Amino acid sequence: MTAYTGQGNSVPIAAIRAAACLVAVLATVVIAAWLLDLGTLQTIGVGTATMKLNTALCFLLSAGALSALTRGLSGHTTALALAGVSAAISATVLAQYLTGTNFGIDELIIEDTRSAADNAPGRMSAITAIEFIILCAAIGAATRQNRTASGIFVASTVGGSALVLLAIVGYAFGTPVLYSPGPATSIAFHTALSFLVLYGALIAFRLDLGIAALLRARSPGGMLARWTLPAILIVTPASGWLILQFELAGYYGAPLGSAMFVITNVVVVVSVLWVASRQIDRINAARRQEHGLNRAIVEGALDAFIVMDSAGRIAAWNPQAVAMFGWSHDEAVGRTVVDTIMPPEHGEAHQRGLARFIATGESRILNRRNELLARRRDGSEFPIELMITPTRMNAGWVFSGFIRDMTVQKQTEAGLRQAQKMEAVGQLTGGIAHDFNNLLSVVIGSLDLAEGAPAAEQRDLIGSALAAAERGAALTHRLLAFSRRQPLSPRAIDLNALIDGMANLLDRTLERSIEIEHRPERDLWRALADEGQVENALLNLAINARDAMPDGGKLTIETGNAFLDEGYAARNAEVIPGPHVMLAVTDTGTGMTPEVIERAFDPFFTTKTHGKGTGLGLSMIYGFAKQSGGHLKIYSEIGSGTTVRLYLPRADEGPPIAAEQQVVPIDVGSGETILLVEDDADVRKLAARILRDLGYSVVEAGDGQEAQAIIEDGSVRIDLLFTDIMMPGGITGSALADYARSHRPLIKTLYTSGYTQSTIVHQNRLRPSDIFLPKPYRRRDLMEKLRQALGPTDQRRG
Ligand code: ADP
Ligand code: MG
Repeated sequence: MTAYTGQGNSVPIAAIRAAACLVAVLATVVIAAWLLDLGTLQTIGVGTATMKLNTALCFLLSAGALSALTRGLSGHTTALALAGVSAAISATVLAQYLTGTNFGIDELIIEDTRSAADNAPGRMSAITAIEFIILCAAIGAATRQNRTASGIFVASTVGGSALVLLAIVGYAFGTPVLYSPGPATSIAFHTALSFLVLYGALIAFRLDLGIAALLRARSPGGMLARWTLPAILIVTPASGWLILQFELAGYYGAPLGSAMFVITNVVVVVSVLWVASRQIDRINAARRQEHGLNRAIVEGALDAFIVMDSAGRIAAWNPQAVAMFGWSHDEAVGRTVVDTIMPPEHGEAHQRGLARFIATGESRILNRRNELLARRRDGSEFPIELMITPTRMNAGWVFSGFIRDMTVQKQTEAGLRQAQKMEAVGQLTGGIAHDFNNLLSVVIGSLDLAEGAPAAEQRDLIGSALAAAERGAALTHRLLAFSRRQPLSPRAIDLNALIDGMANLLDRTLERSIEIEHRPERDLWRALADEGQVENALLNLAINARDAMPDGGKLTIETGNAFLDEGYAARNAEVIPGPHVMLAVTDTGTGMTPEVIERAFDPFFTTKTHGKGTGLGLSMIYGFAKQSGGHLKIYSEIGSGTTVRLYLPRADEGPPIAAEQQVVPIDVGSGETILLVEDDADVRKLAARILRDLGYSVVEAGDGQEAQAIIEDGSVRIDLLFTDIMMPGGITGSALADYARSHRPLIKTLYTSGYTQSTIVHQNRLRPSDIFLPKPYRRRDLMEKLRQALGPTDQRRG
């Protein structure tokens, strides 16, 4: 059983309280009259019957109950308790009538000298006692919200008020039998009136039930009730009373009086019914028109329109639905929605959602725009936009839905996106070609000049050629980063140390007006990522923050351990659940609109003026994060700043990095033999030259097969395999390294790659322990990596 809260109905609380107050005042006056023995107030001058003390007390209790009702749920218990006491008193009185005994309840407080002549002085009338019991039932039923309670409420209010109406009519027409049916005391006029007031207030409390609901209804029935009930209830008794008064005064006899009464009532009832019927007809005509209009709207709608019943069966299917799905009206109606328009894999979720809505009223689909896939008769699927509205009908819920075919729109959108991308790519290619040309001019020009220049100048010229070439290499690296094809050499890194190491650089990069705060997590896990790229990412995030704070502000760099769970992974594309290390950069700058956030990771998307922004910063970091198995997330609001979080996967527990990181003085080779595997002859020639220059002996191979032959041979000693990763002939660098180790367990390996091809099989990363040298590389890089791969010189010699 659910409690009635009155919410949603415009219950006239003030009027109900006023009615309760009126009855309470009357009861108090009567009680005072009894205590002070003021005769007139006990009878209020009408008739001879007195309102007994117990009756007045019960009215006080009932009025209290009614006003407690209006206090909402919290007042319900009080209301029931008060009404219950009055019902108990009345039941005791009734028991006295039935058993013919006197329990002494009638004169408990005061002796009734007024009706001492009666056989039971001070006793409330039987009708009154019955009325209080009915009233208690009505109050109890009013607090509940179910079929039984509604039935009890309607029956008790209608029955109870009919009974007191009889008494009132009895007084009006001078017919004692109506207010004093037995030898017992009669119900007093003001007692009957008080009951009428209380019932009226109760009916007003439950506007959703019985007569009140009918009178309020917008239906033809409501219309009829509004017209006829007041007319009949007022005109019939009033005309009867008037006609009787003249008859009693001797103007005419009973036959004429009765005839006049009949005529008056026939005229009134017929006219009221006449007007009411015309009104109803008008309503119906309007409804028919509305129905026709609705029909026209549905039939003529641009969208498909479908109605589904609570069992999931199609009940309406407009011509657009026929065109969209390929089922005719007659075929579709009666079939289930699941079997007709839904992709098979969504059927179960649909059934669950429907059942849940019917049980709980909750839904994630209803009353809003949804973008889904739908199925045509031929089984093909297409994107739709769907809006479903539930309506409660007598037979249960029905669901009406408008469906729009989004195929063309989606294609247009995709086309537009592609066009935008192409334009951006075009712009970029143009820009890069231009930059590269400039760089190449420097390289070629410098080398040209160097050829015939004196030795002192040669150094400078070669230096500037080298610098230009390096800028070119940096440019390609940025492009590779967002295409997620840059060579990465991930290893376990300590982000806090990395940030500390960049403090100077950040200080120099940001203006003085920006305060920098570093909030390191104490027991930070190590992250598995490419150190250089993390530095690059941090620098880029700091620059974005700087650009967002032209008037200064605060930049906070935070680290933390984070566990991205399955739920997070489900909500965010491409997230691998698991432990991550987080680097967050927060600024107090301008913030971003949702539209900017949505596009911020797009390559070339920038809101900055030409020359200031490239739109490659975030896309690069995003590409790097994804390639590293991590994630990048923006939290931003216009006006309150931005936080960008970079999540990197946690490195497996391994040997402390510190030892590995110790700076090894780079020394040249001392005759170790290096097997150099490289398919590009020019690159190989150059590398071999550098290696020999460094004091190593070199064995060259043009591909994997050649290298394998050398390894198998066994006559040459090989200390280290220096191999490209992608090579023609089907043997990759890593396969070759495995092969080499199986033949010569002590062999060391150094990998290199340019990663410029989309066909790179080498997905994302090498093992953390693998040593990798990205191309293009400089002599010093190569020296460093070789040393790292071969180990410290002392150890080797020792
Ligand atoms: P660029 O910085 O070259 O514009 P990014 O990819 O780094 O390219 O950033 C893309 C866009 O995202 C920026 O143009 C800017 O509108 C927005 N953005 C990035 N970081 C921030 C930030 N910290 N605060 C406000 N907007 C930002
Ligand atoms: Mg940027």
